[in-house]
Amino acid sequence: MTISPTTNKPFTTEDADRLLRLADQFLEDWAVDMVNDGKPDSDYEERNAEWKAIRPLFEQAPAMLEVIKGLIQQIEDDPESADFLIDAGCIECTAGTVPNHLNTGLCPYHKGKQVVAKAEGTR
Ligand SMILES: [Zn+2]
Repeated sequence: MTISPTTNKPFTTEDADRLLRLADQFLEDWAVDMVNDGKPDSDYEERNAEWKAIRPLFEQAPAMLEVIKGLIQQIEDDPESADFLIDAGCIECTAGTVPNHLNTGLCPYHKGKQVVAKAEGTR
């Protein structure tokens, strides 16, 4: 679980939003500077468009992490679902026995496990 060092509780979407507002403020300040300079700044336009596109993902990251963990737990609590999920192209599902030309990367279950491990700093 990713813990906030300031609240000592799991990060929430509200925590993420509070921190993301710092980047919002940076872009707002940049926009003011651009207006004061009296000329358009293509770098600003690109960064602002990128930020608007990716910000919702960052904001929802804590909730998405909880969803992924819940889905992994559901799979692991139901042994029959584990048999159903085995992916012949997944190097983890096949314990590394899949030939390289048939390797399709990690299946959604193992990708989810990897995401959780990275988010929680255990990998
Ligand atoms: Zn797998």
